[in-house]
Amino acid sequence: MRYLSTRGDERLVSSARAITSGIAPDGGLYVPEQIPVINEEDWASLLTMSYQEQALYILGKYLSDFSIDQCQHCVQGAYHTGNFDHADIAPLFNIRDHIYSLELWHGPTCAFKDMALQILPYLMTTSAAIIGESNDIVILVATSGDTGKAALEGFQNVDGTHIIVFFPEEGVSEVQKRQMVTQQGNNVHVVAVKGNFDDAQNGVKRIFGDVVCQQRMQQRGCKMSSANSINWGRLLPQIIYYLSAYVNLRKNQRIQVGEKINVVVPTGNFGNILAAYYAREMGVPIQRLICASNANNVLTQFIHSGTYDRRRPFHKTISPSMDILISSNLERLLFELSEHDDVAVRGWMEKLSQQGHYQVDDEILQRIQSIFWAGFADDDQTQATIRQVWQQDAYLMDTHTAVAMHVYEDYLHQTGDNTVTVIASTASPFKFASSVAAAIIDSAELVGKNEFDIIKLLALKTEMAIPAGIRDLEQKPVLHHQVCTPQEMASKVFELIEIA
Ligand SMILES: *Cc1c(COP(=O)(O)O)cnc(C)c1O
Repeated sequence: MRYLSTRGDERLVSSARAITSGIAPDGGLYVPEQIPVINEEDWASLLTMSYQEQALYILGKYLSDFSIDQCQHCVQGAYHTGNFDHADIAPLFNIRDHIYSLELWHGPTCAFKDMALQILPYLMTTSAAIIGESNDIVILVATSGDTGKAALEGFQNVDGTHIIVFFPEEGVSEVQKRQMVTQQGNNVHVVAVKGNFDDAQNGVKRIFGDVVCQQRMQQRGCKMSSANSINWGRLLPQIIYYLSAYVNLRKNQRIQVGEKINVVVPTGNFGNILAAYYAREMGVPIQRLICASNANNVLTQFIHSGTYDRRRPFHKTISPSMDILISSNLERLLFELSEHDDVAVRGWMEKLSQQGHYQVDDEILQRIQSIFWAGFADDDQTQATIRQVWQQDAYLMDTHTAVAMHVYEDYLHQTGDNTVTVIASTASPFKFASSVAAAIIDSAELVGKNEFDIIKLLALKTEMAIPAGIRDLEQKPVLHHQVCTPQEMASKVFELIEIA
C-alpha cells in the first residue's frame, strides 16, 4: 500500500514515509492509493476478535511496509489497561432503545484524542526505523487544549523523541492547563505562549517552514514532525473503533447479519467522521454518517449546499474542541469522492485560502448527500440535551457528545429512520465539568466554586467516579513554568533541546 498527496504530487510514498513526514511536500494530505476492503471470509474471525486483534487487522491492511511484529509492538504498547481504564478500550453503552454511545474517552487524558495519540508515537518511531531515520524526532504541537495533553501522554519517555507543546497562556481551561503543566516524562516540554491560539499555531507553522530552523535541527541530530490530524498516523487508528463498535453489536446480537448501522460524530476538523467514512468504504456495514457541528456550523452548510464558506463569525462555544472554521480533513473526503481529482481539490483549497470559500459541483454534492446527513446544536440546545438525557436515561454526556445527540434527535424526527445508531462520545463529562454541571445542577449550588470544586460536586451528585486523569490534578506538582512570546518560540525550542 502506497500513499499519494491530495494535491497531485507525483511521488507515491510508503506508509512509514507518510507518517514521519506528516504532510506532503506540495501541502496536500496523504491518502492511501486504494482503500483496502475487508474480505468476506474475514468476518467470521473478526466477530471473535478483541479490540487489539481488530487493531492489528486494520493496521495490517494499511501499513504494508510494517512487519506483523512491528504492528503488534505498536498495538500492544498503546491499547492495554495500564493506559485505558476499560478492558474493551472503546466500550459501547446502550443509552436507550436502539441508540448506543461509543465511549472514546477511557484513555489517560479523558478525550478521544487518546485513541490515536496513544499509538502514534509507536507508529512514528517504527516508521523512523523502517526508513532508516537516525535523527531524533522533535514533535512540535500548538494546542487549544485536548491535543497537547494527549500528545504529551503519548510521547512521554518515548526513546528517540522530544515533544514540545505550546499553549496560549490565557486560552485554555483550568483543567487543560493543569493537565499539561503537571506532565511528567524525560523528553517533554510545555511552554505557555503570551498570545492566543492563533499566535501559538502560527509560531509553530513558522518554525516548520523555516529552513534555518530545519538546518539547526539537523546539526543537533533532530528532525521536526507533527502530531495533529493532518498526519495519516492519527487518522488510521480511528478507523479501528468503528469496526469494533459494529463487531460489539453483532457479538451481543443487537443486530443481525446484513443489518446496517448509523454513526453520528461530533466534529470540527472532519477527522473523526472521516475515519468512519474509511471504515464504511472498507465494508463495515454503515448506512448513514451523521455530521454534528456546534454553532460554528460551516460543515452543516457545506453538506446541505455544497458551498464551503469560512467568512463568518467565529463562536466560542461550550464544546470548544469543535470551534473550528477550517476543517482540514475535508480535503481528503473531496479527493476520495472526486475519484482522486487532484486538480479540482487543489483549486478548491486555493480558493479557500485566497477567497475564504469554494463550491463543489452537483455530482460531488449528490455523492456527499447520499452518505452524509448534517445538523448542528447551539449552546442552549447542547445543555438541554445533557439535562434531558441525564433525567431520562441517567446517562451523563459531555458537551461535545451532547451536540451529536441533539443532531441525532433532529435526524430521527425528520427521517423516522430507526436504524441502530452509534454516537461517538468524544470526552468524559468531567473534562468539561462546569458546562456539564450547569446543565444538571441548580445554579445556586455552583456560585463561587472553582473548577475543581465543581468536579467534586458533579461526582457527588451523579455518583460517578472522577477519572484518574482528572482526580489528582489539583494536588500534582507543577513541573513546567516556561513562558515566551510568539517571537521567542523558535529560540525556546532550541534552548529546550539543548537541555535535553
Ligand atoms: C478534537 C475533539 C473533537 C473534534 O474532533 P475532529 O478531529 O474535529 O473530528 C470532538 N470532541 C472532542 C472532545 C475533541 O477533543
